Amino acid sequence: MALIVQKYGGTSVGSLDLIRQVAARVIERKQEGNDVVVVLSAMAGETDRLLNLAREMMPRPDPREVDVLISTGEQVSVALFCLACRSMGVEARSLLGFQARIFTDHLYGKARITDIDTSMLRDYLDRGRIVAVAGFQGLDERGNITTLGRGGSDTTAVALAAGLKADSCEIYTDVDGVYTTDPNICPRARKMERISYEEMLEMASLGAKVMDIRSVEFAAKYGVTIHVRHARLASPGTIITQEDKSMEDRIVSGVAYSKNEARITITKVPDKPGMAARILTPLSEAGIVVDMIIQNTSAGGSEDLTDFTFTVPKTDLEQAMKVVSEVARDIGAEKVLGDENIAKVSLIGIGMRNHAGVATKMFNALAKEGINIRMISTSEIKISCVITDKYTELAVRALHDAFELEKL
Ligand code: ADP
Ligand code: ASP
Ligand code: MG
Repeated sequence: MALIVQKYGGTSVGSLDLIRQVAARVIERKQEGNDVVVVLSAMAGETDRLLNLAREMMPRPDPREVDVLISTGEQVSVALFCLACRSMGVEARSLLGFQARIFTDHLYGKARITDIDTSMLRDYLDRGRIVAVAGFQGLDERGNITTLGRGGSDTTAVALAAGLKADSCEIYTDVDGVYTTDPNICPRARKMERISYEEMLEMASLGAKVMDIRSVEFAAKYGVTIHVRHARLASPGTIITQEDKSMEDRIVSGVAYSKNEARITITKVPDKPGMAARILTPLSEAGIVVDMIIQNTSAGGSEDLTDFTFTVPKTDLEQAMKVVSEVARDIGAEKVLGDENIAKVSLIGIGMRNHAGVATKMFNALAKEGINIRMISTSEIKISCVITDKYTELAVRALHDAFELEKL
């Protein structure tokens, strides 16, 4: 008998009929003699709908109340799932984050799981029940409901698998595994049989939303092997696990893209020590994460002035512009420009560690399509370029072709 944790995403529980189908699949695994814990997301579109309601009520809604609101999406799913099981004559018990004793820090909207007390869950499993846990939510030390950030149900599943020392952790979604790039925008994308934690982490943090970043971090830390599969098809899926020899052969294993960033440029910043810190400190104090940074001689040509450019999450642009405009005034910079129409395309591969020339090939592939590169950043296993967002799909396909990722 195995203990299995399964997670079903929003599109897989998007209607009563789909929830019934999930219940039937789960019951099948249960009747094979396994213990099953199911983590569910909100029904497709529900979290967005709830967020919009909050924003309609006030433009910058209170984060605590937003978490109370958006956690209800998952509550609906687990309740309906348990009703579906019962309608099929099988006992199932729903647990919200706090009932499953998933404890987090107090950062509303992006809380981190700090601890899980699995005793209650085990108790229900011992009594032969299927347990359905609401994904994406937890409880902070003061008893407030928190949520784990968009896509956070993946993290709930992996954390529960780690806490319960489950035999398998299966993430069911609307694609049948992790592909070389988003199969919904690149028809030549190829499904990978296996991918290392490290590459998956980069793919996720550079925009491949098939897995939530935190879930992969958790899996790597606790050695949880993740199996990504299609919610309705029987195909074998992708295994996310430790790096092995076979993975090193690939120089580039995937292309990711993100349209969730925006760019801010401060022009004519006095070029003297301490300026970068003056600009960036208030942003980090406001909880805004800065990603790429470039500083170069001002377009005006003066040697003692620089233009300072960086990217922030699009959702933080408005606040970042406010913060930065104040600093710019204080330091006597010329003006602050915000640009939402950017995208980041990235190449990822552990094989890049030992291969030169990947960057040049990437830049050439983009140039061939007439796509201008506006910012570049590299690390040991990835290269990212910021481009104009309308070229995203073209860039992804061009890079996929240039590196022949459709071939094994
Ligand atoms: P769920 O609702 O099940 O959590 P998500 O929408 O969060 O599903 O993630 C699945 C989606 O991730 C796919 O529909 C696909 O468009 C997107 N995606 C982006 N990059 C990749 C990739 N490299 N491989 C597979 N899917 C990807
Ligand atoms: N419902 C949440 C979201 O849409 C969490 C999840 O689906 O994983 O982001
Ligand atoms: Mg998801």
